[in-house]
Amino acid sequence: MLKVTNPADGSTIAELPADTPQSAAAKYRAAHAAQASWAERPLEQRLVCIRRFREGIVSHLDRLAAILTSEVGKPIRQSRNELNGLLGRIDFFLDAARDTLAPRTVFNADGMHERITHEPLGVIANISAWNYPYFVGANVFVPALLTGNSVLYKPSEYATLSGLEIGNLLHAAGVPQDVFQVVIGAGEAGAALLAQPIDGVYFTGSYATGVKIAQAVGPRMIRLQLELGGKDPTYVCEDVDVATAAASLADGAMYNTGQSCCSVERIYVHEKVHDAFVEAFVREVKGFTIGDPTGESSYIGPLTRAAQLDVLDAQVADAKAKGARLLTGGRRLDPPGHWFEPTVFSHVNHGMALMREESFGPIIGIQKVAGDDEAVRLMNDTDYGLTAGVYTKDAARAERILARLQAGSVYWNCCDRVSPRLPWSGVKHSGIGLTLSTYGIETFTRPKAWHLRSP
Ligand code: NAD
Repeated sequence: MLKVTNPADGSTIAELPADTPQSAAAKYRAAHAAQASWAERPLEQRLVCIRRFREGIVSHLDRLAAILTSEVGKPIRQSRNELNGLLGRIDFFLDAARDTLAPRTVFNADGMHERITHEPLGVIANISAWNYPYFVGANVFVPALLTGNSVLYKPSEYATLSGLEIGNLLHAAGVPQDVFQVVIGAGEAGAALLAQPIDGVYFTGSYATGVKIAQAVGPRMIRLQLELGGKDPTYVCEDVDVATAAASLADGAMYNTGQSCCSVERIYVHEKVHDAFVEAFVREVKGFTIGDPTGESSYIGPLTRAAQLDVLDAQVADAKAKGARLLTGGRRLDPPGHWFEPTVFSHVNHGMALMREESFGPIIGIQKVAGDDEAVRLMNDTDYGLTAGVYTKDAARAERILARLQAGSVYWNCCDRVSPRLPWSGVKHSGIGLTLSTYGIETFTRPKAWHLRSP
């Protein structure tokens, strides 16, 4: 059985039967049998289903937000933001699918015709994270379904109820039961899913699990995408409006209680504005309301996973021992629930775990730098490469800096931002492959090359 608990108070919300190797195999067989007729439907029919799914999200938005908040502890306004943001992503896929999937003639002369079509992969495994179950799930299952694949969707064990709601809404929208199935459970259920003869794996989660998945499926030569963690840096130049930059970056670091893959996790500040920036940043963070995630005014909720408290405790202890200055926070709050104070350190360096390892919580280190070269060197001094950004008034300077950053997404005067129109990807340990944009539709297909010579 899988126990679902509320991270705000530790209470049990539900107990659900987890999938076994046998039930995962049965789900795979059903998904495989149903896929061909789903793919044979005209694209228009699949678009209708996803449009109805969107309507279902709108009709049930408050109830879905309450479920999400109860199982992951996301403050209720942020749960509603996630669901409202999902609508824009679905709209992008609905708008872009037709053109992206249309057959393309790339050559037509001297009796020779060359064409590319997009074939579905077959049955794909969608193994997902808990921090944005609607966003990171839909980035995969919406285009995967539109392109004619069957989807075996394993929500995180920390977001199972939301995963089941997604399944119910898709089925109510007309997606056949066997074409989209929810696989329930933790790592063992994910491993049981990977043991099936699936045609592709689309994973969102930690680097550690990503490595295990790559090892499990690598030799099988199937499509593999891994969207993994980050240690995302931002550089604040000396020409900024300090209060504006501090407000934007405090939100980027602490939104979703710091549990976003693209949360700001490191800040480098030009020495000329360092002290003023730190003061404004700490003031912002002290202004955040910590509290019951069902409350409308709550901005910081509990951590979803109790185990992350130990990671944060260890980073705080390590930073203090190595000379960092604790400016606010630094400790967990009393149980029940998994609470950690929003925490800010200055006088940090890259000898500290806080500046090198993903924190995935409401904690940040701010480091003083002498100029652009030092900032770029430190920002790239990481195993990860998901996002990175710069705050400056100077557009040319920003472009020069962003061009040198090793990251899938780069930001000027913004952070912690995802657009459905742009590809979402990482370099180094942040992953392989991508979602979103028109590339994130094509990625669920196999391009088929047609060489047609007229007799
Ligand atoms: P996780 O790696 O613990 O789990 C992710 C999923 O993998 C879960 O569904 C889990 O049950 C499953 N799993 C665990 N072991 C498995 C195994 N051996 N075989 C198959 N499946 C297995 O990650 P998490 O705690 O759910 O998510 C947090 C991490 O995800 C952070 O590192 C965060 O940065 C990252 N993340 C990245 C993105 C992105 O777009 N790059 C988005 C969201 C989260």
